[in-house]
Amino acid sequence: MQLLASYLSGSWSQGSGTRTTLVNPATEVPLAEVAGTGHDFAGAFAHARTLGIPALGALTFAQRGALLGTLAKAIHGAREELINLAVANGGNTRGDAKFDVDGGALTLSYYAELGAKLGSTTLLADGEPIQVGRTARMGGQHVWARRRGVAVHINAFNFPGWGLCEKLACSLLAGMPTITKPATATAMVGHRMVELFAPLLPAGALQLLVGPAGTLLDHVGPGDVVAFTGGSATARMLRGHAKIIEHSVRLNIEADSLNAAILGPDVDLTSETGGLFLADVVRDMTQKTGQKCTAIRRVLVPAGKQADVFDALRERLGGIAIGDPSRDDVRMGPLATAQQKTDVLAGIARLAAATEAVFGGTGDVTPVGVPAGKGFFVGPVVRSAKDAMNCEPLNEHEVFGPVTTVAPYSGDAAYAADFVARGQGCLVSSAYSDERDWVATFVGAASPWAGRLYLGSAKMAAMSPGPGTALPSLLHGGPGRAGGGEELGGERGLQFYMQRTALEGDASVLKSLLGGG
Ligand code: NAP
Repeated sequence: MQLLASYLSGSWSQGSGTRTTLVNPATEVPLAEVAGTGHDFAGAFAHARTLGIPALGALTFAQRGALLGTLAKAIHGAREELINLAVANGGNTRGDAKFDVDGGALTLSYYAELGAKLGSTTLLADGEPIQVGRTARMGGQHVWARRRGVAVHINAFNFPGWGLCEKLACSLLAGMPTITKPATATAMVGHRMVELFAPLLPAGALQLLVGPAGTLLDHVGPGDVVAFTGGSATARMLRGHAKIIEHSVRLNIEADSLNAAILGPDVDLTSETGGLFLADVVRDMTQKTGQKCTAIRRVLVPAGKQADVFDALRERLGGIAIGDPSRDDVRMGPLATAQQKTDVLAGIARLAAATEAVFGGTGDVTPVGVPAGKGFFVGPVVRSAKDAMNCEPLNEHEVFGPVTTVAPYSGDAAYAADFVARGQGCLVSSAYSDERDWVATFVGAASPWAGRLYLGSAKMAAMSPGPGTALPSLLHGGPGRAGGGEELGGERGLQFYMQRTALEGDASVLKSLLGGG
């Protein structure tokens, strides 16, 4: 069986110690192993500092962008292989796998283009020049300059391809060498991507750790940053890490999220907006088997429309084939790990104690094309809550699987926004309405609680990717429970990897620093 190697200090090393076996989550057939220890992390950080920092510092944004373009091309060249790995190791259907792999390539291409647009400069302006002296000769200007440190990326199991690429696109374009660590259980896609990427990048620019983080973070120092995606318990531990505290290491956290979807009172389910709402709810429950940080977990519908919404969900979910995701007829695969299945079943049981069953009971399912008793399968589950605001399991616990809960409301936009807020901070929430006043009230009150608000309506329905897709041009991250982090958002995505400095001096000197005459 393949023992996946880490790429540290410029060479591939398999590590040592206790091994973890990576399996196909549909069949439980072992696929590969990773070692638990035996890596020289001090050497890896030194490698990044001595080679990666100067190599990337010698490049302009345009040149770094060109490197990202070559990484995107490398994904295109190995697309089928990467998709097959995601199907085997992630339990992804082919559609799920494309979402992950193509999403990664698209994000790299987006930042490659941004690099070309930023051009041959190395500083970024933050806002306009400011007059700070008595006359315009004495000026002020905020700029962003790259941080002279190492970026550590720690990713979640659910998007091994996209997660790696979206973080890497920003750190490399900003000019920081990166050590990336995929989640162990689904590391095969990230491992293969780094095999493809490493020969295309300057020495020290990219390193990979497969397997547990161990003492990796004990080596972070001044100027370094850590970008984390995963569960809130791990996030809490990272916030308290001694070295992160000691060196004020920047830490970006993308964690749990109780994303809500609200059906506006004006929307008929048979309208375009109603169709969009239903399609988004069903897609978010079943795509990646609900293992998307952006997936809709809580749904609010006008009381009089609840029965119709239940009928529509039953009909759509009832037609979804669940089983071995390598089969063409299967639309939903297993959860990614045995632990995930245990956690999701516990979440359903918690919900079941406070809600009523609408579809799927408690998630029992007989998957197609799978040996009896094998695989980490849970079927789609819809529950119904009577009192949206006071249903503790609904508003306090993320069930990271194909599970959603629907509750009634009066149609009041302020109440809908309070419901979003009840999740205590989310990555994204969505509202479906063609009434502009209703939308304005909702946006005004819900915005402080969401990193992104998706406003579904008839005019955009035909071209919408749905709320569950994080786009490179828009911020990804959210306040409170979601971790308080920010990623992507075009140029904003670079700022985590850069230092904002206020310059003051001769206005013409300031202008020339930014490439002006
Ligand atoms: P997790 O258990 O927190 O693991 C996330 C990552 O942290 C993995 O790479 C894991 O490595 C690593 N890790 C664990 N302990 C660590 C430690 N002591 N030091 C450093 N790294 C450590 O989360 P998960 O189960 O992979 O992901 C599910 C969660 O992620 C869900 O709650 C979901 O909401 C959240 N998520 C959020 C977003 C977002 O953008 N906000 C996106 C996706 C997922 P190992 O695998 O080696 O243990």
